[in-house]
Amino acid sequence: MMPFTYERALDASSAAKAAAQPGTKYIAGGTNLLDLMKLEIEKPAHLVDITRLPLRQIEATGDGVRIGSQVPNSDLAAHPLIRERYPVLAKALLAGASGQLRNKASTGGNLLQRTRCYYFYDAEKPCNKREPGSGCAALQGFNRIHAILGASDSCIAVHPSDMAVALTALDASIETLLPDGSKRTLPIGDLYRLPGDTPHIETTLKPGELITAVVLPAPPAGNQTYRKVRDRASYAFALVSVAAIVRVDAGRVRDARIAMGGVAHKPWRAVEAEKTLRGKPASMASFAAAAQAALRSAKGHGGNDFKIPLAQRVLTRTLADVAGIEGAA
Ligand code: SF4
Repeated sequence: MMPFTYERALDASSAAKAAAQPGTKYIAGGTNLLDLMKLEIEKPAHLVDITRLPLRQIEATGDGVRIGSQVPNSDLAAHPLIRERYPVLAKALLAGASGQLRNKASTGGNLLQRTRCYYFYDAEKPCNKREPGSGCAALQGFNRIHAILGASDSCIAVHPSDMAVALTALDASIETLLPDGSKRTLPIGDLYRLPGDTPHIETTLKPGELITAVVLPAPPAGNQTYRKVRDRASYAFALVSVAAIVRVDAGRVRDARIAMGGVAHKPWRAVEAEKTLRGKPASMASFAAAAQAALRSAKGHGGNDFKIPLAQRVLTRTLADVAGIEGAA
């Protein structure tokens, strides 16, 4: 590990000012950053510890909920407001990592975790995300876990978070504080970037910008669920996951909000599937058509070709389950 200096921030505005300096990073739970520092993939000269900032509240705000960015994943999953109003989020959190990691990992850190592409973690291999312009070893390499939607010739990595997939389906917003003291709120869909030709730039956050909270609007009407398919039953990242919120009335789908994980550089809102489904009969045929629409632009890279039919089946089955429909996917 490279040498670095460390400070513990006592208030959010001084933390944001300190983190705006070149070579500086925030550290919270450290469940991803410390691994990256040990491998010298991340080499910050200075760390600003934000774990003691007063950002650990989960509070009702009218019909919605505001979640401080330092709330640990375990606390968030267990909170009655989340379990009762946003079960898709509780399920997604509990599908991620392990109990020990969820105890340490923060809400803000979960949003900003880096990809688990093998080549990103191997300094001997070319990787445009780690070293811009060096190439992408995954394109012609072992790419079983990689993206099938929204990828580019520069990077086919996927975002690893389960929590962010549920937040995307829930239309969450992100509150931030900038080093100049100003604040902004952005929809979660505007937080993440697709790789394009700059995969090393993963979010729209500015230098030093601190995530202070995640805000959930009123829970949408309908049933919610999160399904994750992975290589083993626990402690593994998603090959494909689906967060689905579906409202069925008089046998028809009145509303559907769908996000997918493990398929793209960012949590993937399945807008085409949502459009396809609205107003249709709640039937296996409708759900299969929606899944087909969701994957219409999908592209495999050899090792991950299997993800396209897998994603279609997982999405069809999840929509049927959340709508309470029996039948084979
Ligand atoms: Fe690097 Fe992205 Fe290619 Fe993986 S997929 S090697 S992260 S550029």
